[in-house]
Amino acid sequence: MPRIAVDHDYCQAHGRCYARFPELFDADDEGRAVLLGGGAVPENVDPEEIVAVCPESAITLV
Ligand code: SF4
Repeated sequence: MPRIAVDHDYCQAHGRCYARFPELFDADDEGRAVLLGGGAVPENVDPEEIVAVCPESAITLV
């Protein structure tokens, strides 16, 4: 199963990831993305779609 990661050095708290994929992301107190479920990508979700949702390239496949 593919996994994703978030590089918090690049995350600018736009919130696009948790708005689009609330099953995969939450937000911390400053609006930065927090991965849920260890970053495991569900089978019905295209990992590349998740990566593309971030305008800061903070989300990567690992
Ligand atoms: S879309 Fe990218 S920059 Fe915005 S909160 Fe999610 S990881 Fe951070």
